[in-house]
Amino acid sequence: MSTTFDVINPATEALVASLQEADVAQTDAVIAKAAKAFESWKKVSPGDRANLLRRFSALVTSHREELAQLEITNSGHTRGNALWEADNVSNVLNYYAGAPERLFGKQIPVAGGVDITFKEPIGVVGIIVPWNFPMPIASWGFAAALAAGNTVVLKPAELTPMTAVRLAELALDAGIPEGVLNVIVGKGSVVGARFVSNPTVRKISFTGSTAVGKSIMAGCADQVKRVTLELGGKSANVIFADSDIDRAAAAAPGAVFDNSGQDCCARSRILVQKSAFDRFMEGFEKSVKAYRVEDPNLDTSQMGPLISKKQLETVQSFLNDKDDAVAFTGTAPSGPGYWMPPTVLMPQSVNARTWQEEIFGPVVSVLTFEDEAEAISLANASDYGLSGSIWTNDLGRAMRVSRAIESGNLSVNSHSSVRFWTPFGGFKQSGLGRALGPDALDAYTETKNVFFATE
Ligand code: NAP
Ligand code: MG
Repeated sequence: MSTTFDVINPATEALVASLQEADVAQTDAVIAKAAKAFESWKKVSPGDRANLLRRFSALVTSHREELAQLEITNSGHTRGNALWEADNVSNVLNYYAGAPERLFGKQIPVAGGVDITFKEPIGVVGIIVPWNFPMPIASWGFAAALAAGNTVVLKPAELTPMTAVRLAELALDAGIPEGVLNVIVGKGSVVGARFVSNPTVRKISFTGSTAVGKSIMAGCADQVKRVTLELGGKSANVIFADSDIDRAAAAAPGAVFDNSGQDCCARSRILVQKSAFDRFMEGFEKSVKAYRVEDPNLDTSQMGPLISKKQLETVQSFLNDKDDAVAFTGTAPSGPGYWMPPTVLMPQSVNARTWQEEIFGPVVSVLTFEDEAEAISLANASDYGLSGSIWTNDLGRAMRVSRAIESGNLSVNSHSSVRFWTPFGGFKQSGLGRALGPDALDAYTETKNVFFATE
């Protein structure tokens, strides 16, 4: 007996759709279909595979308005973000369409023969996607995986399945054969867990919480299953007194409140050099109060609601802690929907729970530091190491601090660190392996070495 579940619009609490959720037997059937499709997909010539991915990319572009609207309705993403996300899928597909013809091996000098390495596809790849960026994260996995000759089973989060289901239909419309890109809607504990235990799935690419990531890594150990993990973060935004403080203050809200703070790269720990603190906070308060939290359908909207009632409650449980003072807040609509104003905290010390744990909502904490050494040590005092920013006008300091911070993706005098042609991933408990850029292809291939005797 199959069960259904409801997908809810987080800005209005209206019902978006009721979908069937797959059980273990249905999951196994789709995995078997993907394994069968792998036998022919891996043999599709590089040029043909490239063309199919380019066609898929073009179809995503011609459906960008529809895809964006689905994401606004399902996830409460602002219109600006949702359009960027649809375009990101198209760009990522187009970028990896360049890969099949460039999956170079090496020719390594040896005595008595020729030695060549090949980048072989792994087989069926299981991709598990969280609810915060449903479209981009799905595509970062499937575009690289398909380009390298794998087939894919993909599980979107139950809260946000709508765009993944539509993308799989567009892949078929583009001419990508049946069984090559499969989207299975269902629970993580059922469908996702089956990707881990079913031996036909040869690799898992998981994006989500560090706790679930650890259990997936442990589960994969049993079959020595390949695994890529993109997990949580508690990234630092380090502002030195020698930087353009007004610019840093104007940019700080977007660096943490974008997507309502539900961003693994959110710069949720602000570290300001003591001598610049007052000036920074004055500018920051102005920019937080001006941050537009409103109907995500509006072009002017900078922040929408949180994804669910449960997430709103989780985020609010971090507030009113005796270890924090609320410095100031922004605004938010009232009425239906899971709304919350951007909130700025001043923790008493680095031991505050809000300074240590990923909140995954529109909450940011501010602390001060004296000098460069203290800034580095505070930034690194975290189990996470995903992202971060450094504001300084001293080139030497920018170099020193960006080399010293233990994090996979840093930006200097900017908050932008995710580009589809550069590698993305975490140090420490923020993950394992890299997505995007040229590096992701290593995550979806095995290196095979062959020696040909010539004597
Ligand atoms: P989550 O609870 O870990 O869920 C992520 C995905 O895993 C969902 O599809 C979920 O399915 C599935 N899942 C849950 N339990 C599972 C299990 N036992 N076996 C297999 N799959 C399982 O994370 P979330 O709450 O959706 O997302 C928030 C977290 O993701 C944050 O910590 C954030 O930092 C992290 N994140 C990291 C990155 C990055 O690139 N590093 C990007 C985005 C998000 P269901 O929910 O449908 O049951
Ligand atoms: Mg969860």
